Amino acid sequence: MNLGCTKNQVDAEIMLGTLAANGFELSADPDKAEVVIINTCGFIEEAKQESINTIIEHGELKKSGSCKVLIAAGCLAQRYQGDLLKELPELDGVVGTGEIGKIADICKKLLQPKKRHQRVFISQPPYLYDEMAPRIRLGHSHSAYVKIAEGCNRNCAFCAIPIMRGKQRSRPIESIVAEARQLAAEGVKELNLISQDTVNYGVDLGIRQGFTALLKQLVKVKGLRWIRPFYLYPQQVTDELIALYAGEETLAKYIDMPFQHINDAMLKRMHRLGGKADITALVEKFRSRIPGLTFRTAFIVGFPGETDEAFSELKAYVEEMAFDRMAAFLYSDEEGVPAEQMDGKVDRELMQERQNELLAVQEPIALAKGRALIGRTLEVLVDGAPEETEHLLEARHEGLAPEIDGVVYINDGVAKPGELVKVKITDATTYDLVGHIVDSPSSVPTVPRRAPAVLHR
Ligand code: SF4
Repeated sequence: MNLGCTKNQVDAEIMLGTLAANGFELSADPDKAEVVIINTCGFIEEAKQESINTIIEHGELKKSGSCKVLIAAGCLAQRYQGDLLKELPELDGVVGTGEIGKIADICKKLLQPKKRHQRVFISQPPYLYDEMAPRIRLGHSHSAYVKIAEGCNRNCAFCAIPIMRGKQRSRPIESIVAEARQLAAEGVKELNLISQDTVNYGVDLGIRQGFTALLKQLVKVKGLRWIRPFYLYPQQVTDELIALYAGEETLAKYIDMPFQHINDAMLKRMHRLGGKADITALVEKFRSRIPGLTFRTAFIVGFPGETDEAFSELKAYVEEMAFDRMAAFLYSDEEGVPAEQMDGKVDRELMQERQNELLAVQEPIALAKGRALIGRTLEVLVDGAPEETEHLLEARHEGLAPEIDGVVYINDGVAKPGELVKVKITDATTYDLVGHIVDSPSSVPTVPRRAPAVLHR
């Protein structure tokens, strides 16, 4: 059972691959499993609570199901280690983020009846998978996440990730390129590059401008349509990097760059490098040099010391800059992070109000940007039929990242998952688009789909 972010998902995929490669039979049904592994998230309060509830829920299977061994892996396990065992007696083992490569041995150990006392398998998280690691990918077969590095050297005052994932460790460029080739050979069209601090890639390997050097190699990999990096910190962005984005067809014209705040005093308190002027200049540089760019960012509201004035400045900024995608998160008071000791805590209700206000500013912007695409014909990657109906297909254009952005609903035409087709956009809602296929590799004359032309959300 996998929880949390895409980096955790890659860990889960490696654990599945390692277990299968060591003779374990995998089951999607926890009721039937002898070993149940909950790959937890420990980022913020809500995520921690969800992980604990999931462990307790699956703990019941030890009474009713065939579960003999219940394991907590992932960030919550790394963060709380033995304390998690004390709090949750249903757990048999806690496996840290540095131990996922040993998951098969750990399961074998815990399955031995005499050895089934609670055990902690934790080490400082040195582990970083490579292209040889067995992996069973979750999600769409045509879109894959590739973890290019693990950990983070920064010290953002609200963030517990360095506590759970350690210092930055980058995979060698050769290993990432080898994996990208393998994935392209398996039919992957979209390569999503993930790490905690992507622009800092390679700094620990002594590679100058490592991220740019990596992209220069990845764009040579045949068969990929979009290479989509995530989690760019607004620093170390060179003109060369921007030119690469502008000039390389396979580099998705999509920037994912969380700013967290825009008020200079808040950015300083958050231990974020750079100020409002730097950030604004960077956004304008990206936008002026990369035509058709989609800019995604994220902000935290309610950070200790956030005044009404600072928040109003943020709101006005979101309105003025009109980002294509904007996420707003509530500050979460995390143990062991610098902000925990800070004064000026904002009460939860006010935080919630500010989050709602910021999203309310973004909604008309998102709708207007969607409506501006009506009448345009866009290249989209088909993901497949949505869960709710077989009469539509879900797809995404270059500016729509998997799982975190909206989709293009196709209500007429034929295509298979993983195919790139041309769609004429006929309608838009706040986050989604609607359209019909005008050109597709699978375009054989068939009975057209009859589906509602417009979706109401
Ligand atoms: S750069 Fe990201 S992962 Fe690193 S400390 Fe800051 S918020 Fe956390």
